[in-house]
Amino acid sequence: MKTALVHSDAYDRFDYGPEHPLRMERLGLTWRLMEAYGLTRLPAATMSVPEPAAEEAIARFHAKPYLDVLKASNTGRAPREAMLYGLGPGDNPVFPGLWDVARLVAGGSLLAAELVASGQVDRAFHFAGGLHHAMQSRASGFCYVNDPVLAILDLRARGLRVAYVDIDAHHGDGVQAAFYRDADVLTISTHERGDYLFPGTGFVEETGEGAGVGYSVNVPLEPYTDSSVYLATFEAVVPPLIGAFRPDVVVAQLGIDSHRTDPLTHLALDVQGFARAVARIVELAPRLVALGGGGYDLQNVARAWTAAWAAMNGVALDPDLPAAFVNDAGRDWHARSLWDPEEALPEHRRVRAREYADRQVEAVRRLVFPAHGL
Ligand SMILES: [Zn+2]
Repeated sequence: MKTALVHSDAYDRFDYGPEHPLRMERLGLTWRLMEAYGLTRLPAATMSVPEPAAEEAIARFHAKPYLDVLKASNTGRAPREAMLYGLGPGDNPVFPGLWDVARLVAGGSLLAAELVASGQVDRAFHFAGGLHHAMQSRASGFCYVNDPVLAILDLRARGLRVAYVDIDAHHGDGVQAAFYRDADVLTISTHERGDYLFPGTGFVEETGEGAGVGYSVNVPLEPYTDSSVYLATFEAVVPPLIGAFRPDVVVAQLGIDSHRTDPLTHLALDVQGFARAVARIVELAPRLVALGGGGYDLQNVARAWTAAWAAMNGVALDPDLPAAFVNDAGRDWHARSLWDPEEALPEHRRVRAREYADRQVEAVRRLVFPAHGL
């Protein structure tokens, strides 16, 4: 079993702006925690540094006029047409190096796909990737270039069958839209229900169009869905569909904004529940291209993605965080354990979340499973 960790120190140079919830420093922090655990020096793991993707590679999904606006935004000053493409003050700010970092993220996920497709490794993890909201001609939800779509298109061009599994707290709408009429790419997204959370989509009735009916799968969840409810729901939906679809490669978006302390969402997973879901994806995937995603509590991001990378390598970690890391992590770092303390939700909230999830599973069984002979 060979693996690759795809990362660049260059990500530290970019900044969405002081008020923006997406903090680029989460990436360096994650790398340092992996390093402190010895996970950047594993014998069967390669450390790979991405190059920025070529514009032509990004143009395989994104429209040229949109890419021209992204390029023009690289100065940090918004071009006149920016607003027409979702750019401007708010979620998708124009900042210096925007096009550079968008190309680097795309390059990282394309490198991860290439390493897996060529057989150099079985599993690759690019945790700066997973920017699943970007649309063909529009920035959305902190995402400018949709690197999961580019990775999937690249794997498809090499004749590989791809299933996409998205466990971010937000619906993977950009990836779903890209393959909505395509029966050769199965997309599965679990997320907080769209009537409560951005981007407002991802209802269970969204199952695909035309030949693609049954190949877009959505499992919306109630606020306060905790790890036990989440994992039971995941288990009821994801393994049967992956088993029936028989992908060559799974592309996974591993956002950790599903965590109970995430400031932007209302799900209630803990790091150990997230890690169990990742471990299941690793088991189910014949080959794996894993990407990051959302995550706005930095301590959760570093711990969760470190645990995810350990799972991809079959390494069990000491739950006590390495002291050297904790001492260097700064004043805002309080966690001492990789895992979260047990915290029981009020029973009525658990029941409500479980009943809602059970109804979604029933609907998936009714609306999607028949297309897969299940
Ligand atoms: Zn998210």
